[in-house]
Amino acid sequence: MLNIHLVPCLQDNYAYLVHEPSSNAVAIVDPSEAPPVFAALEKHKLTLTHILNTHHHFDHTGGNLPLKEKTGAKIIGPKADADRIPGIDLGLGEGDTLTFGNATARVFDIPAHTKGHIAFWFEADKAVFTGDTMFAMGCGRLFEGTPAQMWSSLSKLATLPPDTRVYCGHEYTLSNGRFALSLEPHNQALKKRMVEVERRRAEGEPTIPTTIGLERETNPFLRPTSAELRKSLGMESADVVAVFAETRHRKDNF
Ligand code: ZN
Ligand code: FE
Repeated sequence: MLNIHLVPCLQDNYAYLVHEPSSNAVAIVDPSEAPPVFAALEKHKLTLTHILNTHHHFDHTGGNLPLKEKTGAKIIGPKADADRIPGIDLGLGEGDTLTFGNATARVFDIPAHTKGHIAFWFEADKAVFTGDTMFAMGCGRLFEGTPAQMWSSLSKLATLPPDTRVYCGHEYTLSNGRFALSLEPHNQALKKRMVEVERRRAEGEPTIPTTIGLERETNPFLRPTSAELRKSLGMESADVVAVFAETRHRKDNF
């Protein structure tokens, strides 16, 4: 089984240190910057072998080159954006598998936040790394894609088993949840979750990982069929992509 450690970086980013103990394979997912990663490696007495990038943004790849220089770790990222991933050794896309020690990850293309964006799904370990596509109760901004593309990307993730743990790129949960409540104030699962999220943030604790099942119940970007959400938007009979697009647009201005 994988050991997964959160590594807070910059203001509100998370990198993840992933250790496969039977082989001593060690990956860092989306290192914004190198110093906190070196500190985490030292704390857990691990040697880095892989760097996994979900997408090209600097707050997910800024640590690539200094980490590679010091450790020789192999850099793996989205094939569709290989020319924008610093130091990339291997590009992966939809349907590819990554062998990581004695673990295996399946790769999905989940574009829209950026043109090339991938998820790494460790099925046996019930864990998925979603970068800036799916957040806890949120989704990434549409910098390089359309609402239809983002809806399709999120829908792929939403079909994973409900007990899959979701490791996303940022701690945006509290503000995402406040937006979610503005659209579904009577969603009981959402209200219950927000009590827990507020407690954790007040104590400085992370709210990650979440799970696919909890996201399906509380993430407004996975809920364009919710009657309450549609009513809040005044879009009772619109199609799901239109509802999704309006939800994203409202969040941009929340
Ligand atoms: Zn990003
Ligand atoms: Fe980001």
